[in-house]
Amino acid sequence: MNPFLELGIRHEVVNAITELGFEKPSEIQEKAIPVLLTGNDDFVGLAQTGTGKTAAFGLPLLEQLDFSQKHPQALVLCPTRELCLQIAKDLEKYAKYIDNVNVVAVYGGANISDQLRQIRRGVQIVVATPGRMLDIIGRKAIDFSQVNYVVLDEADEMLNMGFQEDINNILSETPDTKKTWLFSATMPAEVRRIAKNYMTDPVEMTVGTKNTGNANIEHNYYLIRAKDKYAAFKRIVDSNPDIFGIVFCRTKIETQEIAEALIKDGYNADSLHGDLSQQQRDKVMKRYRDRNLQLLIATDVAARGIDVNNVTHVINFSLPDEIENYTHRSGRTARAGKTGISISLVNIKEQSKIRHLEKVIGKSFERKEVPQGSAVVEKQLLTIVDKVQNVEINEDQINQFLPAIMEGFESLSKEDIVKRFASLEFNRFLEYYKDAPDLNIDARDNGRGDRDFDRGERRDRTGSKGFTRLFMNLGSVDEFNRGEILGYICNTTKISGKSIGKIDLKGVFTFFEVQDADVDKVIQGFKGVDFNGRNVRIEVSGEGGSSDRGNRSRSGGGERSGRSRFGNSGGGDRRSGGERRERERSGGGGFRDFSGKRRESKSKY
Ligand code: AMP
Repeated sequence: MNPFLELGIRHEVVNAITELGFEKPSEIQEKAIPVLLTGNDDFVGLAQTGTGKTAAFGLPLLEQLDFSQKHPQALVLCPTRELCLQIAKDLEKYAKYIDNVNVVAVYGGANISDQLRQIRRGVQIVVATPGRMLDIIGRKAIDFSQVNYVVLDEADEMLNMGFQEDINNILSETPDTKKTWLFSATMPAEVRRIAKNYMTDPVEMTVGTKNTGNANIEHNYYLIRAKDKYAAFKRIVDSNPDIFGIVFCRTKIETQEIAEALIKDGYNADSLHGDLSQQQRDKVMKRYRDRNLQLLIATDVAARGIDVNNVTHVINFSLPDEIENYTHRSGRTARAGKTGISISLVNIKEQSKIRHLEKVIGKSFERKEVPQGSAVVEKQLLTIVDKVQNVEINEDQINQFLPAIMEGFESLSKEDIVKRFASLEFNRFLEYYKDAPDLNIDARDNGRGDRDFDRGERRDRTGSKGFTRLFMNLGSVDEFNRGEILGYICNTTKISGKSIGKIDLKGVFTFFEVQDADVDKVIQGFKGVDFNGRNVRIEVSGEGGSSDRGNRSRSGGGERSGRSRFGNSGGGDRRSGGERRERERSGGGGFRDFSGKRRESKSKY
């Protein structure tokens, strides 16, 4: 007998979930469904995302509600629009073979009148984010007096996002007799308080250990100098050609900059952060979900509720400030019983955070070596060999061209042809990794490299002879052309145009050379200068710590950019300058380097 039927789920639903590939209940489903089917208890389930939580509460809900009635009987509250849509969609899928089931997704950033219309038509299940729900309640557009079940999904996230008061207000609209089912990945005191205030003797269940990530996640870290972070990151990506990853940064600006640098370097990446409009977010998420994006660069807040299966790697480009966010981040991989890898890039000073994380999540982290350039190249070559072996051949199409192809290759031996094809794909790659330095550091390293870096003692004068290359956080998106930026620099700093060398105008930043003698004058001249509300930042190239961008020439041919890796040369879906400008400006200003140096330090490690 089907194990879901044995648990007490009706045939229609079992048929629908069988079509979705659910053969047997996941751990949380096995534990929670029998309790929730009684309909008698409040419930607290401590479970990560990706463990099958939605069906754990969704299937029992479908058994409890009366679909011949058209009033709201269940309310599911969740933190984000993405999760809201996902849950509503999942519930509809489970209910595919039950008649008259109406589910509405209520979330901000979308047309409220459509949502109100759906509610008016009659719904039994409302899935909502707290803000919009409260708005609808305020309009007296919904009656929750007959709600028997309230589900608080990802309760810790909702509280993190400041929805405590909204939740209180929404719950006060529902009858005292309702049952409340709370799911949370972690159990901080605030969630515990909700359970205490709103529930009566809840049945508590934990999947995995408290605060512990999913057992299928491997936790790795790489010990590197802060200045090598971006280069090390690229090597890790390059040595995992099939990576489908989420890269976490601490700030919007860092997110955007890493995404831009990756796009520029030919990677298939884009950013997801709070300054994007809902439409832009949806577009990015769709591309990621459809696997048209290989790397999603995200902030913690923006990535909340991301529910994409088969994410192979979560990469902590910067470690989160809050330990609990590490659990949330890594929980984006290893969903639905799959395995996944959570990677952290740390410098000497951050090693203690890794030790602390190990204690808190009860798992050990394995230190991995940043692959050497030659290993990356070999990996890529073998992947191509593999691809050649497995490529599907369209015989009909290719046969018509075969005689011409054979003729063209007539004079070449098999070995020659192989070499030439490999070179075609790899010459640039070989060049890129030629003389690539070892990026690993000794764990006992006194961190000299980083200290120098942090003190800003290193003056990297990598411009033409007698010139120093400077970085500036203004670029073409600020509507400068090269002449205009030259004029702007000279006018602001009162140095002569003759003192300026090469100008490399980019989207959101510019590199320009200044005669060594005038460097300090330029730096001083821009102190406190504001451009359209943004602090203008000038740094000696390389002090910002991006070894790829700032130190390119210094690394002696080590980590150069420009290699198109995922067949998306030139960056595919580059945003318009206007759009990027809008995001850069609203990002709070200022260039943020890749070093992970933080402006404020409220670390809880
Ligand atoms: P959730 O934690 O509810 O977001 O579920 C994570 C993923 O696991 C979703 O893609 C579900 O469709 C899938 N899933 C949930 N329960 C099962 C199950 N019993 N068997 C197979 N896949 C499942």
